[in-house]
Amino acid sequence: MDELRDDQKNNDFRVPPNLSDYEKTRSEFRWEDIHEELDFLPGGGLNLAYEAIDRHLKTDKKDKVALIWDGKGKVEEKYTFADLSLLTNQFANVLNSLGVSKGDRVFTYLDRVPELYISIIGIVKAGAVVGPLFSAFGTEAIKDRLLDSGAKVLVTCPELLHNVDAVKADLPALEKIIVVNKHNVPYTPKENEISYEQAMSEASTEYEICQTTKEDYSIMHYTSGTTGKPKGAAHVHEAIVGHYATAKYVLDLHADDIYWCTADPGWVTGTSYGIFGPWSNGVTQLVSEQGFVVSHWYDLITKYRVTVWYTAPTAIRMLMKYGEKEVKKHDLSSLRYINSVGEPLNPEAVTWSKDVFGIAFHDNWWQTETGCIQIANYPIQDIKPGSMGRPFPGVTAAIMNDDFSQAMPCGEEGHLCLKYPWPSMFRTYWNKKELYDSRFKNGWYITGDKARQDADGYFHFVGRADDVINVAGHLVGPFEVESALVEHPAVAEAGVIGVPDPLRMEVVKAFVSLRDGFEASPHLKLEIKKFVTEKLDANSAPKDIEILPTLPKTRSGKIMRRLLKARELGLPEGDTSTLEE
Ligand code: ATP
Ligand code: MG
Repeated sequence: MDELRDDQKNNDFRVPPNLSDYEKTRSEFRWEDIHEELDFLPGGGLNLAYEAIDRHLKTDKKDKVALIWDGKGKVEEKYTFADLSLLTNQFANVLNSLGVSKGDRVFTYLDRVPELYISIIGIVKAGAVVGPLFSAFGTEAIKDRLLDSGAKVLVTCPELLHNVDAVKADLPALEKIIVVNKHNVPYTPKENEISYEQAMSEASTEYEICQTTKEDYSIMHYTSGTTGKPKGAAHVHEAIVGHYATAKYVLDLHADDIYWCTADPGWVTGTSYGIFGPWSNGVTQLVSEQGFVVSHWYDLITKYRVTVWYTAPTAIRMLMKYGEKEVKKHDLSSLRYINSVGEPLNPEAVTWSKDVFGIAFHDNWWQTETGCIQIANYPIQDIKPGSMGRPFPGVTAAIMNDDFSQAMPCGEEGHLCLKYPWPSMFRTYWNKKELYDSRFKNGWYITGDKARQDADGYFHFVGRADDVINVAGHLVGPFEVESALVEHPAVAEAGVIGVPDPLRMEVVKAFVSLRDGFEASPHLKLEIKKFVTEKLDANSAPKDIEILPTLPKTRSGKIMRRLLKARELGLPEGDTSTLEE
């Protein structure tokens, strides 16, 4: 269904030629070959920051714009690879002057300003382990993560300092706080606080990048907290091999692209594909300080002639909510390739995007733990709406039975597992080695998701293992039911859970929020129920539908079914540190 446009068809440059023959590419693919396309530090080490930035200084990309920043209040800044190299050298020098050394954890807690990106790269250059925290986190969320990681330095801004002040007495390892005053608010440094601007003005622009090895830790991300308490997944420098290859072949990034990843670096998508993937490919990327505002998003695509766009189902559902009318007001003809990750992408969203943009969203699947895209719909191949696609050539995925001893027959549901190792896989859950070890069995990494694989080798998401509903012995995946619900014109979002039932073990209950222009009423509930009952089998059809103003979501936009369930059953809500307010 995803036909290539003429400019894609006739231009080999536009499409990675080797993915046109998927099976052949799989048989020939070696991660070692990807390594060859990268570089090593002059001293022989491997460092994410060098691959993303400094490597390009030896090429004609040196003076190419790496970062276009769209700041609040119509401010724009541009940085070349050479600019970023010098600034990140300075920041690494600042860190060393504060006593930061290899392996120390240095966290960021900043809005999406250029200094966030400079800090992250500078931290990695210094050989420290960077931990980006989402700026909308509250005090408990930052305390948990700073305490767990034992972060020594935090980079933040005056606007967020009150949250840090509220918890710093409980953080014995936290020695220094670097304060970035991007918006020039009145601020005087307190004890152990350092002005970023002052320190940078005194720091040398020369720096010898720390000789990290491919197995040294580089970055840690706490998971989204969709299924429980977030875990700190720690990655190593070798992860760059995965970031680079998948940004090139799955996101189809090329030298002349203007790329926009809407994810915040507080989540893994915002670093793997909002920093390291595009920049290791020498691509110009756009960063917007603003959150989701539909007209602004479309304005940005028009203004900067964005060609490749990577976003998430939650944003796509919002765009759908505003509809085609909004799309028509903008010139979005620069877009040539659009991608989605983070949650299952309902087939409805794929069809909608094809109708309104002329090109369809390509869904891909991965996790904080995997570090890079594992399963994807590729630019040159047909999309199967509702499927997350096929494994990346260097990845072996399988659907395993309950004790992980055997693969399930084609078409049957089971546990989605990956053969390990691969370069960007996490190397531990911070302080949770036992939990980490428990995720590996019989040579497989257990993802915690349930899925099935069809005869063409495409994977179909069923649900989180914890979310699958058992109706009288029949397993019902929430995704299928939710996808049927969002096909109803009134339904914007749907979250489906199992509730205990004396006869059938569990029955399906659905929560929905409505699109603009629809009012909740008993009649509408009945109508939606009838609509989905006709589409689904008797076990999967919801017995009850509840209309909510919004569904509880993580700050990275994922529907929190465990909260819907806890609230429905009057159980404790558990960790809500990533709950969107
Ligand atoms: P936690 O592990 O703390 O519960 P999380 O699993 O949501 O949070 P992430 O690592 O951000 O944290 O998300 C990865 C998960 O998101 C995957 O395991 C999967 O359940 C879901 N996901 C990501 N992309 C897709 C996709 N394309 N289709 C279906 N599900 C997806
Ligand atoms: Mg997870």
